[in-house]
Amino acid sequence: MRQKLQLKGDTSLSQSAIQRRNSNQRQKSPVQGRRLFLSHVIQTPQSQQYGQTQQQQLQQPQQQQLIQGRSHSQSKVVFQEEIPQKWPIIQLPFLKNTEPTIFFQYPPVCEDKRPLVNARPMTEEEIKKYSLTCKVLGSAPYKCVLTSFDWAGFKRIDEDDEDEEWNVQWGIGNKTTLRNMNRYQKINHFPGCWNMGRKDLLWINLSKFKRKYPKEYNFIPNTYLLQYDYDRFIMAQESAQKDTLWIKKPCADSRGRGITMISKKSKVKRDKNFLIMDYIYNPHLINGFKYDLRVYVLISCFDPLRVYMYKDGLVRFATQKYSTNSKDLTKRYIHLTNFAVNKLSPNFVKNQNSQKDDEGSKWSHHAYRKKLEELGVDSRELFNRIKDVVLKTCIATEPFMLDSNAKSQEHRNGYFELYGFDVLIDENLKPWVLEVNVSPSLNSSSPLDKKIKTFLISDVLHLVGVPLWDKSNQKVASPPKYNQRNIKEIPNINTSNCLSKLSQNDFNMLIHTVEEVKRRGKNFSCIFPNPKTIHQYMDLFEFPRYNNKLIERFYQDRCNWLSRYN
Ligand code: ADP
Repeated sequence: MRQKLQLKGDTSLSQSAIQRRNSNQRQKSPVQGRRLFLSHVIQTPQSQQYGQTQQQQLQQPQQQQLIQGRSHSQSKVVFQEEIPQKWPIIQLPFLKNTEPTIFFQYPPVCEDKRPLVNARPMTEEEIKKYSLTCKVLGSAPYKCVLTSFDWAGFKRIDEDDEDEEWNVQWGIGNKTTLRNMNRYQKINHFPGCWNMGRKDLLWINLSKFKRKYPKEYNFIPNTYLLQYDYDRFIMAQESAQKDTLWIKKPCADSRGRGITMISKKSKVKRDKNFLIMDYIYNPHLINGFKYDLRVYVLISCFDPLRVYMYKDGLVRFATQKYSTNSKDLTKRYIHLTNFAVNKLSPNFVKNQNSQKDDEGSKWSHHAYRKKLEELGVDSRELFNRIKDVVLKTCIATEPFMLDSNAKSQEHRNGYFELYGFDVLIDENLKPWVLEVNVSPSLNSSSPLDKKIKTFLISDVLHLVGVPLWDKSNQKVASPPKYNQRNIKEIPNINTSNCLSKLSQNDFNMLIHTVEEVKRRGKNFSCIFPNPKTIHQYMDLFEFPRYNNKLIERFYQDRCNWLSRYN
């Protein structure tokens, strides 16, 4: 019997659809040589429909269509087999009045090509003009980050180099960096990202919503911050049933460090750096082992909120069979699923081949979904549930993030964040959010890890869109000024009056949103704002926001406004 879950609304492509498309996209042998590719420009029905864009100097003069397949958007597609490796490519906008961005080619480890839809290689002149640079902080940067930049044609500049301008910084920006940043630059962390990324702050933010919406927010285990809730925990411990379990964790550490199991008999000290969480004692098991899911979530903007979930990720298994026996409570290989913990176990099995994604102690989501289907579980419904809890977590932290971002409103599109959600599935197939990682590990300990993470980073950078920036003479435009906006007017906006009712900024925001969704490719699904589900989440926001409401109305009115805007 298939186990049924109750959630609706998934925009994700079915696995078979992806496989079908992938097989349509099989490559022939690569052809080297610049002469060939410089004449290749691809036009889509959308760009034709909207006519010439303001960037069309970039897209002229040699237009020639190459058609080798069809993408999900019915656009004409060409693959980059003729383009020399690491040659910068321009992703042209699909709509009018917006900017082109940099196309991120997949590095070879991905064994795949991103379809060149509405994209073209830069000319040598443009390569000089737009000299692409990235600053990747840290002494041991992740290889998947470096290769993704490298394959898109970026040069890495020195961390201490203050003179050369960078397009993207990978690493938390200090105050000076944030202050001096301009609208062409992007950083992979929001100011205030720890509101979600620290276990104690996540609980503070989510518990507020849990009090307000107990049913909707019942996906984070009840938590006691020992700094404030010590007495409350002691009372709960005294009155609990004898086999009740909790888990004690440091508020701001990772990789299973400092984690212990707590029973009714355990002595707990008032330690302000720790929290105690109800233990999910009935996890869903595969072959008798506990596991959790690492789910990658990209937030590209908080105002409006834009959240994407990655279709693949990792499943991390414990390495000793699950038991809640009291004599097993100290056994970390039973209760913790962290890779950092279990890799030390004699039972840990390392993945040796990226094609075998259900091998060893770490699987891909793809293999996990297949296994669930074998077990009679509706994996699609389960992943819809995961999307739901992920989005509710983002909505709960949104007010705190916007507070932290308040001073840098002009950089609304200058930040993005790739969060790693740790999600545990219980035996009733209910997902629980255990924590959210601000800098999820991008280390590649196996071929499978390497492939998933390189795909992921390349997709993140392609989606967020790095604008072209002529650093030698392009004046950086001053931040947009926000006119008086009246949220109460939004329900009255429609296709016939949108030109008079909406400001330039409103149109820019809508165009940006649409363009970004188009760049998400086959691996990210947009969970907010999603035309099918936006409505059901709007009431959860602590404050109704003008931009979110406007997008909701835009979808309601069937998105015709942009065709009226020139
Ligand atoms: P860390 O940041 O150190 O990885 P986590 O909160 O992710 O800390 O916890 C580590 C592991 O402990 C999780 O991957 C999961 O296997 C287990 N765990 C954490 N919290 C719970 C819980 N409330 N119930 C059951 N298992 C948990």
